[in-house]
Amino acid sequence: KSQSLDDDGEAVAEKLGVRLTSPDRIVYPGQGITKSQIVAYYEDVAEAMLPHITGRPLSLVRCPQGRTKQCFFQKHDTGGFPEQLRSGSVVEKDGEKQDYFYVEDLAGLVAGTQMNVLEWHVWGSHFDDIEKPDRLVFDIDPDEGLDFSAIVSAAFDIRDRLKDLGLVSFPMVSGGKGIHVIVPLRPKAEWPEAKAFCKGLAQTLADEEPQRYTASLSKAQRKGRVFIDYLRNERGSTAICPFSVRSREGAPVAVPVGWDELPKVSAANGFSLAAAIERSKNEAWPNYFKLKQALTAEMAVT
Ligand code: ATP
Ligand code: MN
Ligand code: MN
Repeated sequence: KSQSLDDDGEAVAEKLGVRLTSPDRIVYPGQGITKSQIVAYYEDVAEAMLPHITGRPLSLVRCPQGRTKQCFFQKHDTGGFPEQLRSGSVVEKDGEKQDYFYVEDLAGLVAGTQMNVLEWHVWGSHFDDIEKPDRLVFDIDPDEGLDFSAIVSAAFDIRDRLKDLGLVSFPMVSGGKGIHVIVPLRPKAEWPEAKAFCKGLAQTLADEEPQRYTASLSKAQRKGRVFIDYLRNERGSTAICPFSVRSREGAPVAVPVGWDELPKVSAANGFSLAAAIERSKNEAWPNYFKLKQALTAEMAVT
């Protein structure tokens, strides 16, 4: 068991009315991190994380036998989950209703952990205004072997381009290989407009610096380049939630950082649970929830 982490998850869960089974089961074998310690982690970051996750449809990565065994994405509530992990219906494009998970509080995160959720992925819109994104994500995906500094440069280039258009953005290390540049929005434009905007911005960067960037999903196009993945910005697409743990080697966390901090960050997967808790104590994204910016037709990049 990891000695450096709180281990009171069972008591935390009980207080919230969630029964935590096998609290001492190790879910990250490399680090010896237990289910109970994951619960304790979410209690510690809840204040910073919850504003980013509540009210949004989710996609979950579940690893019933721990990180190193089979994991799977689960979008829909198939039953058997504690009630604190809620579900709400979304009308799909074909008119059919589907149930999606959501959480409203720490109890929801604990209930998910009980069900072996190791990653929390969020939609870019809320249930109450589902057709209008209130966050955009530029997901920077480097080709293998690229230096992290190339990813950091890409993040700054995206930030500058957005700033020219009047949009403030915020960086997050994904806990995997890349950085996400996130733009909080007032929900005004609908999904197709948001996607077109993001595609236009990614394509412009790729056109201007084809040796550095590609806006194409094709792996062949990525050779030695950074893929600016704008495809997170579609109705139903998700991105990893700030402060979610990742089901990757090392038990890394997706962590918001400041633009001033980013040049000093050396990897996307450098935040351990303990480091993420520490980082969560100081707001990395001041004003994130206060900005009143929206996409306008004049911003469209063509
Ligand atoms: P990295 O920095 O390593 O790229 P990432 O979280 O950005 O980490 P990506 O592979 O770029 O990982 O995926 C971006 C997002 O796409 C994921 O965070 C997830 O929300 C979504 N995604 C990826 N694969 C699936 C899948 N099989 N089912 C549902 N959503 C997925
Ligand atoms: Mn990515
Ligand atoms: Mn991607």
